[in-house]
Amino acid sequence: MSIDYSRSEPLVEEEPLITTSLTQEDGAEYSLRPKNLREYIGQEKAKGNLEVFIQAAKMRQEPLDHVLLHGPPGLGKTTLSGIIANEMGVNVRITSGPAIEKAGDLAALLTNLNENDILFVDEIHRLNRSVEEVLYPAMEDFAIDIIIGKGPSANSIRLDLPKFTLIGATTRAGQLSAPLRDRFGVTLRLELYTPEELSMIVTRSANILDAPIEQGGAMEIARRSRGTPRIANRMLRRVRDFAQVVGDGLINKELADKALTALEVDYLGLDNIDRRMLRAIIEYYNGGPVGLETLAATINEESVTLEDVYEPYLMQIGFLTRTPRGRCVTPKAYQHLGLTIPGGAPTEMDQLTF
Ligand code: ADP
Repeated sequence: MSIDYSRSEPLVEEEPLITTSLTQEDGAEYSLRPKNLREYIGQEKAKGNLEVFIQAAKMRQEPLDHVLLHGPPGLGKTTLSGIIANEMGVNVRITSGPAIEKAGDLAALLTNLNENDILFVDEIHRLNRSVEEVLYPAMEDFAIDIIIGKGPSANSIRLDLPKFTLIGATTRAGQLSAPLRDRFGVTLRLELYTPEELSMIVTRSANILDAPIEQGGAMEIARRSRGTPRIANRMLRRVRDFAQVVGDGLINKELADKALTALEVDYLGLDNIDRRMLRAIIEYYNGGPVGLETLAATINEESVTLEDVYEPYLMQIGFLTRTPRGRCVTPKAYQHLGLTIPGGAPTEMDQLTF
């Protein structure tokens, strides 16, 4: 089987540590991607289900049903699609919603697939309508309708496709149109990872990178990587640089702490943008509620970045809530930033538990 990781989108050159989009460096490090389900750490529920579906499809000698993977960026959706291909013994072609501009682009991709192959479409919620309409018969009947000619003499012919599996990945399942969502036989939600799982991922990556690491060092990186393997691997590389230049090469707790503090990532994994976001809600909007767009404009960041990259973790650690009227910070966030909570001290329930 072969995996074509040549994304159609340009890779970004310089990005902050916390970003969960793909950077040049991530692109160069395919070696860190687990190749089979056994190496894929965490996500036990999704993995358990997949194992059953893969085995059943193999027993019936059929392609796997179409799979929709959703969850925040950097959690392993692309990796999982490579693993599914590997376990099924087929090829995977990787592309993304915004890269497929015209119906003809999709038709070209589909007609070039081999029997049982996998087509992975990242950010599938960003497919345009005309492309999406080609996808419906392709998913359902393994066929596409092509219009030949123009005006009154135009003719529609149906072209059969090889049987294939579509794996769609999205950070926003809610933005998928209902007809598209309904055509996926399997929907799997990926969750943020626990520090223990991330520490196993960091240790595994350090071994592959030949970087000596102690358990305390792996845990320190894990606790600061906001539940996301892509961030954990990126932090590991930066900490390894510090270990080589400032230390003796070994990544222990103390060195990881020093390196990440120098990179302005605090002990909970919050960076400058998190802190600016929380401070803005507190200082300009009395702790909220404030609408996402207003907040994004206030701190001069993109609202999608705040929503997809920053909010899931801030909500998970209980610093932020989403209400119908907008975003609010919790007493925990005031405490973390060392600010006075309006209306008095927090109750015991609000105390930090980290
Ligand atoms: P997504 O497609 O969800 O944005 P990726 O599949 O590109 O995320 O994963 C980002 C990186 O994190 C990969 O390069 C891979 O090395 C690592 N990774 C993701 N999930 C796991 C996992 N469960 N176990 C080990 N490494 C993982």
